[in-house]
Amino acid sequence: MSGMMKFEGKGVYGAYAIGKISIFKRADNDVAQKQISDPEAELERVSAAKEKAVEQLQAIYEKALKEVGETNAQIFEIHMMMIEDEDYNESIENIIRGQSVNAEYAVNETAENFAHMFASMDDAYMQARATDVRDISNRIIACLSDENIDEGFPDEKVIIFADDLAPSETVSLDKEKVLAFVTAYGSSNSHTAILARNMNIPAVIGVGEDFAAEVRNGVLACVDGYKGEVILDPDPETLAEMKKKLAGDLEKKQLLLELKGKENITVDGTSVKIYANIGGLDNIGAVLANDAGGIGLFRSEFLYLENDDYPTEEQQFDAYKKVLESMVNKKVIIRTLDIGADKQADYFKLDKEENPAMGLRAIRICLTRPEIFKTQLRALFRASVYGNLGIMFPMITSVSELKKIFAICDEVKASLKEEGIAYNEDTEMGIMIETPAAAVISDRLAPMVDFFSVGTNDLTQYTLACDRQNSKIESFCDTHHEAILRLIEMSAVNAHKNGAWIGICGELAADLTLTETFLRMGIDELSVSPSYVLKLRDKVRSIDLKA
Ligand code: PEP
Ligand code: MG
Repeated sequence: MSGMMKFEGKGVYGAYAIGKISIFKRADNDVAQKQISDPEAELERVSAAKEKAVEQLQAIYEKALKEVGETNAQIFEIHMMMIEDEDYNESIENIIRGQSVNAEYAVNETAENFAHMFASMDDAYMQARATDVRDISNRIIACLSDENIDEGFPDEKVIIFADDLAPSETVSLDKEKVLAFVTAYGSSNSHTAILARNMNIPAVIGVGEDFAAEVRNGVLACVDGYKGEVILDPDPETLAEMKKKLAGDLEKKQLLLELKGKENITVDGTSVKIYANIGGLDNIGAVLANDAGGIGLFRSEFLYLENDDYPTEEQQFDAYKKVLESMVNKKVIIRTLDIGADKQADYFKLDKEENPAMGLRAIRICLTRPEIFKTQLRALFRASVYGNLGIMFPMITSVSELKKIFAICDEVKASLKEEGIAYNEDTEMGIMIETPAAAVISDRLAPMVDFFSVGTNDLTQYTLACDRQNSKIESFCDTHHEAILRLIEMSAVNAHKNGAWIGICGELAADLTLTETFLRMGIDELSVSPSYVLKLRDKVRSIDLKA
């Protein structure tokens, strides 16, 4: 790559970042053994992947030469030679032809065989080659699957680039080291985008394949999360301009901080609650720093995604208690687990589904596997005495589901009572309105609950039949569609008729062009990423509903 290059994507969190790119490396290459019928085609794949791997190594070698000198750069020359090694290549070919298997498997098998051979040698220099042969093989396997490979996570803060990031991958990144996210694919309503917003990390998604082809580890980049622009290798003027923008942005954020402690009240005196959405305990600092009135959505599934096994009742109780105590009697709405679709935890061992967004997810898992649900409910009710808890259920579509949920809640409470364990009988119980069905029958659901919270992300996907993960259909996914606004309004009317309150916790709650519309509907609460709380307060305070 030479010279400055500009790429357009979609900004999902407005902020700027300047820093070096680090290409995200997926830990596990898929090297599963697959039977193939055309060995020639597999061998061609290997040779194309090798060519790409050598190209990558050449670029790394040249950069290393400039930055760390010839002696240190030599290792990449050795890697390039190893890729062309006759025995190594013969072994790959023999495995592919002899066993009729896929290239990934053959390369991995070869790597392991050679690594064992090197490791068993007496000579320390030769022993060290075991690591190298694994390294080059991983690079070839990554090239076979068209993946870029990282050169390790540097110590400094970096801009992470990935083709796309699954929520669990985003969660597992060390947030302290991430300046920004840039992805080649992905849609703005994906959980990765939501996480970036929650983490206050500038993010641009969908920069495309051209970017992926150009980008290299360590290259300097500027990320403009407002415009959705990423500049690689900026020239001095662009860099200076970007630095100025970054400073200006910090100043603006400083000004917003002056709104801390002020009310969320319109010019005509209508007030609304502004709460924050969180994914885990690390977000509480941001909630408090931005003066949110409460937590409108704690996505409890992240406790499950961060774990390798089902979080125990004690683990969950500790987490919920901590949130409640940190919020000192401010409302904390914890949503029961919303696993499934794009939020997968392997240990749930969920079957692969044709349409996972419409599959066994969220409350459907809880109702089919009540032991998991009961553990979470016990932890929640036990924690309820430590603050102002609201429990919320996701993906509701029917009255009968809600009846089943409440029957399980009653069972859990009865056993706690029997064991002499305290819980708050007045814990507010609510549901998400995130399916068109729930909105349409909101007159039936409202008398059963204390509150509704509209999940506009899923409500939009189900109402407009637009997969929220699919960036190709974003232009069809009009988040301001009249159908969605009507469903929200209908739910608001039905909530209020039945003495329930209604909030919005989907991403639309932060859309300042709709704030007035929501206030006119009588929405009682808006729950947004912590960093949007003060922006939203600023907006609310500028609205005059009587004008
Ligand atoms: C929603 O669907 O709008 C919502 C808030 O839930 P999630 O984004 O976690 O699915
Ligand atoms: Mg949802």
